Formats: sequence, structure tokens, C-alpha cells
Amino acid sequence: MAPVQVKKICCIGAGYVGGPTCAVIALKCPDIIVTIVDLNQARIDAWNSKDFSLPIYEPGLEDVVRQARGRNLFFSSDVDKGIREADLIFVSVNTPTKKNGVGAGFAADLNYVELATRRIAAVAESSKIVVEKSTVPCRTAESMRTILEANSKPNCKFQILSNPEFLAEGTAIDDLFSPDRVLIGSLQTPEGKDACASLAEVYAHWVPRERILTVGLWSSELSKLAANAMLAQRISSINALSAICEATGANIDEVAHAVGRDSRMGPKFLKASVGFGGSCFQKDILNLVYLSESLHLPEVAAYWRQVVDMNEYQKRRFSKRVVDTLFNTITGKRIAVLGFAFKADTGDTRESAAITLVKDFVAERALVSLYDPKVPHDQIWLDLAEAMPVTPSATIQKQVQIYGSALEACKNAEAVVIATEWKEFKEIDWETVYAGMNKPAFVFDGRMIVDAEKLRDIGFKVTVIGRGERL
Ligand code: NAD
Repeated sequence: MAPVQVKKICCIGAGYVGGPTCAVIALKCPDIIVTIVDLNQARIDAWNSKDFSLPIYEPGLEDVVRQARGRNLFFSSDVDKGIREADLIFVSVNTPTKKNGVGAGFAADLNYVELATRRIAAVAESSKIVVEKSTVPCRTAESMRTILEANSKPNCKFQILSNPEFLAEGTAIDDLFSPDRVLIGSLQTPEGKDACASLAEVYAHWVPRERILTVGLWSSELSKLAANAMLAQRISSINALSAICEATGANIDEVAHAVGRDSRMGPKFLKASVGFGGSCFQKDILNLVYLSESLHLPEVAAYWRQVVDMNEYQKRRFSKRVVDTLFNTITGKRIAVLGFAFKADTGDTRESAAITLVKDFVAERALVSLYDPKVPHDQIWLDLAEAMPVTPSATIQKQVQIYGSALEACKNAEAVVIATEWKEFKEIDWETVYAGMNKPAFVFDGRMIVDAEKLRDIGFKVTVIGRGERL
């Protein structure tokens, strides 16, 4: 296979990664036809909706889709046709943590990757470049190659590339427009390098060449896990220090600022919080833990495991602080939880810290008033039912209410808990909130976004992560 000029791309998986990534490729490469396919018809219908009610919320995404959809960007549930017509196929399907069986709770569930790969082998009538976009354990490309070679037609040859995605939800479009780097891993054979060059040409439509890194397949696969593990490790490190701050009177903001001024470290990702969430950090670290154990490296596994354990500890510590501060009981008390998404500027709730907080408050028999500007109410009920499988849904619905604004959610509450750093929570009319709450009125800032002094002047009793001030 000599380097091919990519003319038609198919992306299997129209989710948080496949959708935005391939929409941006279509926008930036008007000469390439991009078809994003998914088995989930409802998702495809939403991508194709006339009023652009897209299935995911991401700033700037609608604008990209408006420009490219129908021109050279298409969404379809005809997976086979998408595969057949493409010369390059992204596999961007979900790779959740396995729930049952061998490696349950740690290993990546590669079932979706395998099914997509088998479909490619069964349907393809010509040679293709197959690109792992999903985050996968190191050496997954080898399994994909074995499956493709064993099942494909004799005239079909496949080159497998690894091209992990580094976008962050909430800033996905900016990240895709100007990525820190695009990583492409290939076998170091002439054919592998040709395929790598073909994909690099696609990105070179808008990404400077020096930001397109080409490496070996296994390095590329491992780099994605390593990047997420090290980002999460930074958060767990600052959160561990926040506990020491609370016990000593040191201020985590000041500590983070001082530490981040070291040019070897830099200031980013040093914000203490109630804990990291999202579909990737925990899953990818657990994946690394499982990989390390499989490679008989128990000390390495234990090292990474601690990053996740610290995150769980931070969430539990925060819930306990709420209960302790509210005179050791929240039974029957109304707690307003502001934010349900795992971070601002996304409607994604996967592994959101808010889920754990609400679960803890419900277990303590509190009444929870919830508000999030973007998360659909159905999603909230689904998440809570999943988080509390043995609690009857009638009980959950009796104790939890969802409101249409922060002000409504805070009415008659004893405490406000900020779980997501939505900008609008910084700008709430706190005087009105205070007037409508039971007294003493408490605020627990799990994202360090409020002006604690201003709130104290109003009359609130304020608790901020990583600050040891006494009330
Ligand atoms: P997602 O669940 O939002 O989307 C995956 C989509 O794939 C779903 O719509 C599903 O229906 C579809 N799908 C699964 N099997 C299929 C098949 N055989 N044929 C057609 N469609 C199929 O997941 P996501 O958040 O987009 O993540 C995808 C991958 O990217 C994961 O491996 C994830 O770890 C990785 N990743 C995610 C992010 C993120 O921020 N979400 C960032 C970087 C990497």
C-alpha cells in the first residue's frame, strides 16, 4: 500500500469524540467526504436534526456542524455503507471499564472495538487504513490486525494506526482547532509509515507540521493512557494537599500558585476540587492498573491505583465535611446541589462528583434540590438510579427534586453545595439566595469559584475546599 490521498473518511462512533473530531476534519478538509456512523439511531437523528439539537453540548460545535453538514459531512446509521465507501476508517467507539468477568472494575471492555473491527473485516471490499481513535490498552492494534487479517477478503489489506484523541470536553472545538499535538502511531514498516503519512496529510490541512508527532504504535497507545493518568495524578496531588491545608490553616490557592510558578511544573491543572470526573480519567488509570498487573508489575499498579483512591477519598471527605458542619446530621434538611455535569461547559455526567455527593446526601436522608444548566433531567434520574441500585426509585424521587434555576433550587435550603464550576454560579444573586434560605445558611464550594469573603459579609457560613478557616 503506497501513501494514499485520503478522499473518504468513515468514523464509527458518533459520540463525544467521533462527532466533534470528524466534524472538524470535515470543516477543515472540504475536499474529503466525512461520514460519521453509529448504531444508535436516536443519536444519528439528533446529529441530523433540522434545528441542530445535537446529541452533545459543546461550545462551538453547532457552528461547525452548521457549516459542514450536507456539504462534505454526513451522519448515518448505515455502518456498512460508511465502511465500504471509505479509504480511512476511524474507530471511535466507547471503551468503558468492564463491569463483569475477568478484570471487572479495572480492564477496558473492548467488546465495542472488536465488534467494529469485525464489521470492517466483513464488509470491506478494498484495502483500508483503520485508525484507533478510542482509548485502548497498549497492543490493542495487534488484536485488531489479527481479527482483520483472519476475516477479510483476499484483495483487502489493512494498515492499523493509533491516533488517540486528547480533546477535553467543554473545550473540544478549540482543542481540535489548535491541538497541542496530534499523535499518530504506526508500525515502523514501509507500509505502516505510508499509512501514517496519509493520515498526517489530513491533519496538515490545519495543524502545523511540527505538532504532528509520529511514533511507534505501542508508544502511541500508551501515551494516551499516560497523559490521562498524569493529568489525574496532578489533581489527586493537589487534592491531597488540600486536606493538609484544611487541617493546618494553609490556603490551597496560595500553595498551588507558589508551586505552579516553578517553570518545571507550570500553573495548569493545579486547582483543588471535590474530585475529578468524566468518562476518561478513572477508566484510563484503572486500565493502566490492569495493564501493569497483567505485566506482573504490582508496584506500578499500586502506584497508579492510589490516584483513583485519592479521588474517592476527596469526594467522601467533602460529603463528610457537609454533614459535620451541619451539626452532624442532614436528615430532613434541604441541600441545594448546584451543578450535575462533571465539569462546566458540558452536559456529560459520566463519573461526575455530583453523583457521589447526591448519593451520600440521599443516604443521610437529606432532601436534595438539584439544578444544572445543561444536563437533561432524564439523564439525572438515570444516573441516580444507577448510582443507588438498591434504593427504590420512589425513595429517590421523594428525596431529590430537579429545578429550572439555581435560585429556585436554593429556596428553603439549609445549605448550597457547588458541585460544578458553571460560570453562572459565580454570578448568582447571593443576596436573594440568602434571603430565601433557612438560617444559618451554609455554602460549600467544591470548585473554589465563589468570593467567600463577599458571601460571609452577606451572612453565609462558607466552607471552601483547601481552606481551613473556622466558621
Ligand atoms: P461515546 O459513548 O460518547 O460514543 C461512542 C459511540 O460509539 C456510541 O454512540 C455508540 O453507540 C457507538 N458505537 C459503539 N459500538 C459501535 C459499533 N460497533 N458500530 C457503530 N457505532 C458503535 O464515547 P466517547 O466519549 O466518544 O469516547 C469514545 C472513545 O474515545 C473512548 O475510547 C474514550 O475513552 C475516548 N476518549 C474520550 C474522550 C472524551 O472526552 N469523551 C476524550 C478522549 C478520548
